[in-house]
Amino acid sequence: NTDDLSYLLNDLNDAQRQAVAAPPDRQRVLAGAGSGKTRVLVHRIAWLIQVEQASPYSVLAVTFTNKAAAEMRGRIQSLLGQHLQGMWVGTFHGLAHRLLRAHWQEAGLPEHFQILDSDDQHRLIRRVIKDLNLDEQRWPPKQAQIFINSRKDEGLRPQNIQANGDLFLATQRNIYAAYEAACQRAGAIDFSELLLRALDLWRNHPGLLEHYQRRFRHLLVDEFQDTNAVQYAWLRLLGQSGDSLMVVGDDDQSIYGWRGAKIQNIFQFCTDFPDARTVRLEQNYRSSATILNAANAVIAHNQERLGKELWTEGSQGEPIALYAAFNEYDEARYVTEQIRQAIGRGLARQDIAILYRSNAQSRVLEESLLREGIPYRIYGGQRFFERAEIKNAMAYLCVIHNPHQDAALERIINLPTRGIGDKTLDQLRDYARAHQVSLWTALHQSLERALISGRAASALLGFVQLLEELTQAVQGASLPRLTQILIERSGLWEYHRNEKGEKARTRLENLEELVNAAAAFEQDWDSSETPTPLAGFLAHASLESGEQQAAEHEDSVQLMTLHTAKGLEFPLVFMVGMEEGLFPHQMSLEEPGRLEEERRLAYVGITRAMQRLVMSHAEVRHLYGKEVRHALSRFVREIPSALIHSIRLSGNSGRASGLATSAPRLSESKGTAVAGTELKVGQLVRHALFGVGVLQAFEGSGAHTRVQIKFDTEGTKWLMLSHAKLES
Ligand code: ATP
Ligand code: MG
Repeated sequence: NTDDLSYLLNDLNDAQRQAVAAPPDRQRVLAGAGSGKTRVLVHRIAWLIQVEQASPYSVLAVTFTNKAAAEMRGRIQSLLGQHLQGMWVGTFHGLAHRLLRAHWQEAGLPEHFQILDSDDQHRLIRRVIKDLNLDEQRWPPKQAQIFINSRKDEGLRPQNIQANGDLFLATQRNIYAAYEAACQRAGAIDFSELLLRALDLWRNHPGLLEHYQRRFRHLLVDEFQDTNAVQYAWLRLLGQSGDSLMVVGDDDQSIYGWRGAKIQNIFQFCTDFPDARTVRLEQNYRSSATILNAANAVIAHNQERLGKELWTEGSQGEPIALYAAFNEYDEARYVTEQIRQAIGRGLARQDIAILYRSNAQSRVLEESLLREGIPYRIYGGQRFFERAEIKNAMAYLCVIHNPHQDAALERIINLPTRGIGDKTLDQLRDYARAHQVSLWTALHQSLERALISGRAASALLGFVQLLEELTQAVQGASLPRLTQILIERSGLWEYHRNEKGEKARTRLENLEELVNAAAAFEQDWDSSETPTPLAGFLAHASLESGEQQAAEHEDSVQLMTLHTAKGLEFPLVFMVGMEEGLFPHQMSLEEPGRLEEERRLAYVGITRAMQRLVMSHAEVRHLYGKEVRHALSRFVREIPSALIHSIRLSGNSGRASGLATSAPRLSESKGTAVAGTELKVGQLVRHALFGVGVLQAFEGSGAHTRVQIKFDTEGTKWLMLSHAKLES
């Protein structure tokens, strides 16, 4: 009786309904962003339980993040109006973990095996390399870590790797084998191992596999395009004999190739499951027609795609706003102001997202939001001043400022490693406690009194020397220069550069951004508040990182990288930093094949927006400690210009419109009583078009002076003074 089931099928279109209400079978749902793939998956599970009488116990659903898994469970339960027990919903890693906990013996693990995070793994590999008597310079631990993880993601053990006389391969294989042995001795496994071990568990124990095959009759996978080889093998084993199998994905949203994801799995699926049906969904329910058309236009530039078009019955919607910012601060200010206005119109903060390509971009945005008192949270990541590499660098600044700060000193005393072990540190701590002195004093006195000797003593001496050198080197240096010197000469830069890989790149970018932060701070530094810019900067950093708890539970604006935004949707989305070299990222311009993945990332970003999309780029940006000018991102240029509304405050561009057209192009603001030197915050000024307003702030000098004015009728605006034609 389908009437009773209307609640399971009502909010679905025909194609979705067919997928949801099919008898148990194998399906591959291949469809673009916002076409309801995730919704189909959720309804399908509810349908199987309600109509096909599947036990929740027999359902296994895999999603990409824990948050998505929790949401999915919630939605199924609210559809069915009951609490579901026994259903497995989670990520591949979470499920593998669960399996290994249940079958630790068969998996050859101790009962309370540990999970190594990436840092733990790095440390262990480093030790292994040392034990093998290999030169760490020649065989950097990070490189070995990447080698090992990517082999594991492909399902390869050391014995599966053919070196064929290749020294590099042979050595990496030896490190891999020794690392495996070390893990086994320690009873620990890393993230990639979780998956591979779970796969091995089934391969090596047919009885167990059969047990789970019998149990999980229904298998469903979201974001299928980003599964790697091991995950796919896992799925194939389990799905072979089940009653139903549904994978949903979008080849245009495959963005984890750099982590081993295999887009080919989408095709392989039909070879491995020849009876599988392919379902295509083409109607988009998420975005306005404008946003959707923009996304379609961008992704059409990729060669390697299955090719599909999305359409919508939704309204045209507003054009995509494109803001040409003066620099990244102007960009942040614009975004913040737009957010303030949107909230004023009644939009919830959590309905607003700011997306960026690189982690380091969040810093300026965070600062601007903090200044305006707009709560925000960084989704799937840390706030700028909480990131480990930033804390490390700040600890050096802190110790240079005052070496008696124990926490900071402890943080850096052996970072980068310089042979000061835990034992020595314990000795210092004991001494400090016994004599009621700082660690730094304890260190000096222990050396003077020869309480510590031998290698430990020379390591400590080396540290003291380093600090002396650093103190010397930063004498008289500006705050940004000081920051840069400390980052470089402390060895932090080298330390993170040796890590290699995506994460290391992010860390280096963040360190560079810290130099920019120091420069910006020094400009605004108020000498009445702190004796030196350095003291002020340290306070600023600890205050900013302290804000976290306050904002965590509140309704907050969401900041995240484009990668993290996958699967999510927001009424209002900002994509910032739309510049060549930033997005597409410089690296993808250098590596062929990566550009298409980068474009898919742009597609993911654009399609997160439901009602309104705002893009921005900066004419000048501080990167790598210098000012750079980037061209507008090709991804913006690939959007038909009819869909874009350009905004430019200074009004000096031919393409300008919107606010810009109302600001006439002028030469110097001649004949006015307002000269750069005479500006006073709080004074009344008159603008030819915007009328009377109060001067709020100004920045820059000479031809670059910009003023912020709160107009009676037109709201607050930043204007180039030379163009503004102000009268007092
Ligand atoms: P992505 O590729 O970004 O993961 P998706 O294909 O998984 O997207 P969903 O998140 O399932 O898409 O759906 C997008 C939006 O459209 C959601 O808000 C969803 O509730 C809504 N939606 C999906 N199908 C329908 C429908 N038939 N009627 C109304 N709204 C729908
Ligand atoms: Mg989805």
